[in-house]
This record gives sequence, structure tokens and C-alpha cells, in this order.
Amino acid sequence: MVDIALNISMLRQQIPPSVTIVAVSKTSPVSDIMIAYNAGHRCFGENRVQELLAKKDNLPAEIEWHLIGHLQSNKVKQVVPFISMIQSVDSFKLLSIINNESAKVNRTVNCLLQFHIAEEETKFGFNMEEVVQMFGSEEYKSLFNVRICGVMGMATFTEDMDVVRKEFIYLRNCFNKLKEKYFSGNAHFTEISMGMSGDFRAAVEVGSTMVRIGSLIFGERN
Ligand SMILES: *Cc1c(COP(=O)(O)O)cnc(C)c1O
Repeated sequence: MVDIALNISMLRQQIPPSVTIVAVSKTSPVSDIMIAYNAGHRCFGENRVQELLAKKDNLPAEIEWHLIGHLQSNKVKQVVPFISMIQSVDSFKLLSIINNESAKVNRTVNCLLQFHIAEEETKFGFNMEEVVQMFGSEEYKSLFNVRICGVMGMATFTEDMDVVRKEFIYLRNCFNKLKEKYFSGNAHFTEISMGMSGDFRAAVEVGSTMVRIGSLIFGERN
């Protein structure tokens, strides 16, 4: 038996209080999310829009939802009215669509820029050059309904923690450079979202401010 409340409290003991734990509830039923909610947890992450929409209407409005998976342009308008943070912004085009849809509902949506830091080819994300180019563009300066709160990344899926640590350090260094160059004095640019069930310790050591943990809370997914 998976004890969701116990898993959260054990994680909370291992992770400094300054680090946000996003409980990744993809594939978990509403009843499991309610167990975590009743244990006091409020911050949850989902990677698919359809699944997120189906669940959220059956759960308390106090939940802070983070979108952590690739977001298709045509689904943006379904999430911007309620989402707490879109962690998976992986192109300027997507950012500008989020901006336009947020403006329509009078919101400013918190976003993280997803960086491609892993060896795998398939993972979405920016590289540093693309981000620098975006921040230098006139179009970027006209986006008033998105708030860039930091960066997100997924390390290579490997047991080799040296590889993983190197990728996390790279992401932290990207964050630091961006903070210095574009966000100095900006109170919102604070988040480095990195670390999952298999690598959160390395991520926290390297400076993660937000870990995204699924299987260590809800049990192994099929
Ligand atoms: C599934 C997922 C996680 C959590 O993975 P676990 O290994 O179950 O902790 C974290 N981040 C993203 C982007 C995911 O898709």
C-alpha cells in the first residue's frame, strides 16, 4: 500500500522548507490527489491539458495547478483562466499565445522557460542563445500578460548522477546569467524548477527551488 500522506511528510523532512514540492499527479486518480490535499498539500503538477481539466473540476479550487508538460497552442486558452504556473514554455510562439489568451481573461500568467538540458533529443526546450535572442526582441517587450518566474529543466534519464548533476549546474548557471542580465531587481524571477523522484537530492544540492515529484508520492506509474 502506498501511503501518500506519509510519503509527503517524509519528503518534506528531506527537502528544505524554502524548496517548493510540486506533487506530480499525472495518471493518479482524483481520490489520491484528495489524500494529498487533506494532508495539507496544495501544489500539484500535471503534464496533459485534457487530464488536468477533467480532474480540476472535481477537486477544491484552492489547489495550485502547475502545467509541466508540452503545451499545444490550441489548448492554451483552456488553461490560462486558472493555471498557477506554466512550467513548460518552450518557444517564443507559445509564450506569445499564452500572453494573448491571458490578456483576454485579464490575467498575468506565471511562466517558466523550459531549457533543453538533457542528452535525449526528444525533450522540448530552449537553449541559452534562443532565450537571449527572445529577450532582445521588440516583440518580447510587448508581452504584458506573462510573468517569467524562472527556468525549468529535466535531466537525462540515467543512473549516472555525475551527468545529472552537471546538467543541473548548467541550468542553474543559465538562471544566474539571465537573472543578472535581464531580471536584476525583479522580485518574480526566482525559480529553478529541477529534480524529480530519481534525482531531487542532486537538484536540491545544486540549488533547485522547486522539485516536481510524482512516483515517490503517489507510487510507481504503469
Ligand atoms: C512525470 C514528470 C515528473 C515526475 O516524475 P517522477 O519521476 O514520477 O517524480 C516531473 N517532471 C515532469 C516534467 C514530468 O513529466
